[in-house]
Amino acid sequence: MAGIELRGLTKVYPGGVKALDSLDLAIPDGEFFALLGPSGCGKTTLLRTIAGLETATGGAVVIGDRDVTGVQPGGRDIAMVFQDYALFPHMDVTDNIAYPLRIKKVAKATRHDKAAEVGARLGLEHLMDRRPGQLSGGQQQRVALARVMATQAQAFLFDEPLSNLDARLRLEARTFLKKLQRELGVTTVFVTHDQAEALAMADRMAVMESGHIRQIGTPAEVFQRPANTFVAGFIGSTPMNLLDGTVRGDTLEVAGCKVAVPASAEGRLSDGEKIVYGVRPEYLAYSSEPAEGAFGGKVVIVENLGASHLVTLDVNEVTVQAVVPEGGEPEIGDNGYATPRRDRALVYRDGELV
Ligand code: ATP
Repeated sequence: MAGIELRGLTKVYPGGVKALDSLDLAIPDGEFFALLGPSGCGKTTLLRTIAGLETATGGAVVIGDRDVTGVQPGGRDIAMVFQDYALFPHMDVTDNIAYPLRIKKVAKATRHDKAAEVGARLGLEHLMDRRPGQLSGGQQQRVALARVMATQAQAFLFDEPLSNLDARLRLEARTFLKKLQRELGVTTVFVTHDQAEALAMADRMAVMESGHIRQIGTPAEVFQRPANTFVAGFIGSTPMNLLDGTVRGDTLEVAGCKVAVPASAEGRLSDGEKIVYGVRPEYLAYSSEPAEGAFGGKVVIVENLGASHLVTLDVNEVTVQAVVPEGGEPEIGDNGYATPRRDRALVYRDGELV
């Protein structure tokens, strides 16, 4: 097993698209690392460049202590699971799992033993004679994982391996994959466009935007303290409120309301300075009574989120959203007041966290 290090990694496709722009990233041995970002930001390119399926235009890929930048995919000792699993339709489960061992010229009996062992570990023992077309999506995914595990690579690369599963299987697979990665302790890089998946599974994650990494951190760090307004707007099942404001002495004027300076920005702002005030809808306490330091306005939308409601307020023509626990939800047209938590609100200056 080995860590993965990227040094100034750059990929420019023929035609001039710069998919990776001088990326630096160090993933320690054994870490479960998620790559997240909007469509086209370069996630798949990054994974394929680590695997050697794309050639880097500049910079280096280091696996363990070996610079593999010029090494063919087969010589990198890493295994990749693709979105479509890439199983061989004419082979049964045993042969699919054992395929990489066949390539390595491992004897048939040995590779079948290994396939049986790994298959059992993934709960496939009763399916070993079937072909991929006779398996459910979740079972196919487990075969693809088993094939990767049978190779005993130094690192695993997953490109949206759960995207073909339905919602329930996907949740199951998440837990399963996380547990498996823990047990095996193999460095794993996981590409997803589903942030809930990244937050739930990753030890650490990177958020990418147009070929750049905009933040690296634990899911908690990225969720609680997005480093810039891009990450703040991207992460969260309901987007963070990002509101223009001005520093007025020891308070802030935001959406025509007077709100307290967030704890994290205390003593770090200058009077009169323009800022962006960020607070997640989950960190606004909603009330139908006026409150000091609250955003006061009219309720314009109430959306049911299941155990809570997302209430949209028009605050002096600025939209502010708050999550309101079950039972406390207002009616459209009511006056509403949303008080931010000082310990959770954030201030951005020129797009970067203060
Ligand atoms: P998605 O989430 O939609 O899969 P992604 O983040 O994985 O997107 P990439 O597939 O890595 O993004 O693409 C990054 C950029 O490189 C995009 O602008 C894409 O159009 C471009 N690109 C990808 N593959 C090629 C290629 N073979 N030739 C030219 N441009 C490419």
